[in-house]
Amino acid sequence: MSNESVQLALENYKSNYDNLLQQFLSFLSIPSVSTADNYKDDMLKAAGYLVKKFNKIGFQNVQAFPTSRHPIVYGEYLQDMEKPTVLLYGHYDVQPPDPLDEWETPPFSPQIRDDYIYARGASDMKGQIWAFTSALQSILETTDLPLNIKLLIEGEEEIGSPSLDGFLEEHKSMLKSDLVLNTDAGMLAPDKPTIVYGLRGLAYFELRIFGPKADLHSGIFGGAVGNPANILCKVIADMHDEHHRVTLPGFYDKVRELSIEERRALSKIGMDKDFFKDISSVPELLGEEGYSPVEQVGTRPTLDVNGIYAGYIDEGEKTIIPAYAMAKISTRLVPDQDPNLVYKSMKSFLETHVPEAVKWDLKLLSGAPAYIAEAQTTGLDQFSDALEATWGVKPLMKREGGSIPVATAMKEILGIDSVITGFGLPDDKIHSPNERMHLPTHRKGVEALIRFFLSF
Ligand SMILES: [Zn+2]
Repeated sequence: MSNESVQLALENYKSNYDNLLQQFLSFLSIPSVSTADNYKDDMLKAAGYLVKKFNKIGFQNVQAFPTSRHPIVYGEYLQDMEKPTVLLYGHYDVQPPDPLDEWETPPFSPQIRDDYIYARGASDMKGQIWAFTSALQSILETTDLPLNIKLLIEGEEEIGSPSLDGFLEEHKSMLKSDLVLNTDAGMLAPDKPTIVYGLRGLAYFELRIFGPKADLHSGIFGGAVGNPANILCKVIADMHDEHHRVTLPGFYDKVRELSIEERRALSKIGMDKDFFKDISSVPELLGEEGYSPVEQVGTRPTLDVNGIYAGYIDEGEKTIIPAYAMAKISTRLVPDQDPNLVYKSMKSFLETHVPEAVKWDLKLLSGAPAYIAEAQTTGLDQFSDALEATWGVKPLMKREGGSIPVATAMKEILGIDSVITGFGLPDDKIHSPNERMHLPTHRKGVEALIRFFLSF
């Protein structure tokens, strides 16, 4: 696509900016909170708003597919099926605005102060939807798209996307694409455009250790009867060695080793030891030996106790041997670990480590594999180039420690890799009072998207 088309679309975006901004403000003023039933009509209103908007900018087959909770908005701009197809993912639902009295201005009466728009959803992620909508409109009013676009904007992301997998299964052929562009992530700083290409997976366990039928007097029985709380703590402590590596058998067997290039790229992100210390207010870090903090959270698997319970925990003292002890334990997984194999490995660890003095029960509460985009993913280079042309710096390539189940579902069900990005910033206060969006960064985001869409 010629430079000229890019210039035309960019100029059109500039001249239409105020108008687009006004439309964005009215979209933000719809309280599309997915979790509470009293916003159901507003959810329909927000979905209807998007349907109308995408019809207007020239999309075809635009519809709101009903689900058991909130509709999924779909639309397409099919140009030439020989050309690549990008599936744009978004969610129009937002988190509840509570606590209301901590907002400086009401969450659904968007206000512009300095360089920011303040409103619930301004950053997560109505602002991101508005970025790709503005880019597409700016292009379609001046020239044509050199690729096919499909849109999938759900209304249930903030409640765990309960309808999404079923929708993907049911509409596999309609959704067939080469790449998912998921703009529900963000940037590390206004001058650091970021692409996330990997996410950790999860295996979540509940472990119970059962001792005596009821709590026992620790004076009469202590010393002779095994204490489930002591045993649980010992077993958990044994799950790491002195190098802070997980000791479950075979835990690291399938873990991909990092290449020198990848380690070098990750080291440039600027999230060093002090960054993690400051942001988490801890006196010192404690992680697997041989890896930097950014590698530890992005590329290495972990095992953590998320909750632990046993015996008497109220005020004062009570001298017992508790009847049972329980812990919630999560493992964060990396490519190519399999949550079911980790479950098996946890079981065989317990078989050899829990003494016969107690019984135990292990449940796998949830499991999801990690996600990583392959280096040759269609569009990854174009997107990186578009960010670089806009910001004047190469984007940071990052692997995220958390999970984005949507990206995993797109890969597992549709077989499509995701480019995960976005133009939100770490201090946007998403999910918190006074959520905001940085307008200059957002404008650059729209420019980058224009360059990306016209790069095919
Ligand atoms: Zn979001």
